[in-house]
Amino acid sequence: MYIFDIKRFAINDGPGIRVTLFMKGCPLRCVWCHNPEGLNPNRQKMYVKKKCIGCRSCVEACPRGGLVLTRDGIQSTGVECTLCGTCVEECPTLALEMAGKEYSLSELMNLVEKDRVVMETSGGGVTLCGGEPLMHPEALVEILEELGRRGLHRTVDTTLYASEATLEKVIPHADLFMVDLKHMDSDKHRKYTGVPNEPILRNIRLIAEKGIRYWIRIPLIEGVNADEANIIRCAEFLKELPTRPEIVNILPYHDIGIGKHKRLGSDYNPDELVMSTPSQEWQEHCVEIFKSYGLDSKIGG
Ligand code: SF4
Ligand code: SF4
Repeated sequence: MYIFDIKRFAINDGPGIRVTLFMKGCPLRCVWCHNPEGLNPNRQKMYVKKKCIGCRSCVEACPRGGLVLTRDGIQSTGVECTLCGTCVEECPTLALEMAGKEYSLSELMNLVEKDRVVMETSGGGVTLCGGEPLMHPEALVEILEELGRRGLHRTVDTTLYASEATLEKVIPHADLFMVDLKHMDSDKHRKYTGVPNEPILRNIRLIAEKGIRYWIRIPLIEGVNADEANIIRCAEFLKELPTRPEIVNILPYHDIGIGKHKRLGSDYNPDELVMSTPSQEWQEHCVEIFKSYGLDSKIGG
């Protein structure tokens, strides 16, 4: 399992101030994904042309002759890249970077422990997200167990797109789940994320039945899921659950994934589906809908 980012002093990834570990690999393909380097479970090379000074250090360093400097910057010669990382190490400007690094459990704990005081004094902890952390249940449970032994609060930020058996394995080791609810209509959910929503709704219900603490997060996107009918269906579903979410966070759409896709050499929203940020007024209206169903709600994480 590879980690593609470690965010310290995170304030939107659960209660208090947190350390967030981003696990690589996700079974969804949300059109608006703002962490595309988390989709593929393997390591990936990323390139930022504007940081490249054309020094050719990477070209000369590649043991396979896999890179060439062109007018459009560094490109592949077509030779298969083994992701050895030599070019990345040689690049003086960080124009080339590797997304994904393996860490031992003790390395991760040493990193996390640096922020123990700030986590404890702020009521924070550690958040595991992705990608989709439930794609790596063994590694996830190992990390969560160790954090638990150390008395640190554990949040799992997840799509919940996983088998019931996988979720059952993780539940005893998490203090809080933060769950994305992207669309109540399964066909539309599949259209925008690549997967149906039934397993997700079933797993939200499972968490609610067990009385586990959970927050719901709705990426609010005009053209995708921000219509009143969908928001009302979300509210009706959540209201009827045996335990309700502690909060429904409305997360307005932004397109910061565009730049990251460019660095990975992949396309953002290749089918050019229409997506935009709902007005402030509409965001507030959605919050009011959830509140009218007895659900606490706010804009933002
Ligand atoms: S990661 Fe290794 S094989 Fe791939 S381009 Fe860089 S140096 Fe060559
Ligand atoms: S080493 Fe870095 S800066 Fe130099 S040519 Fe390669 S990508 Fe560009």
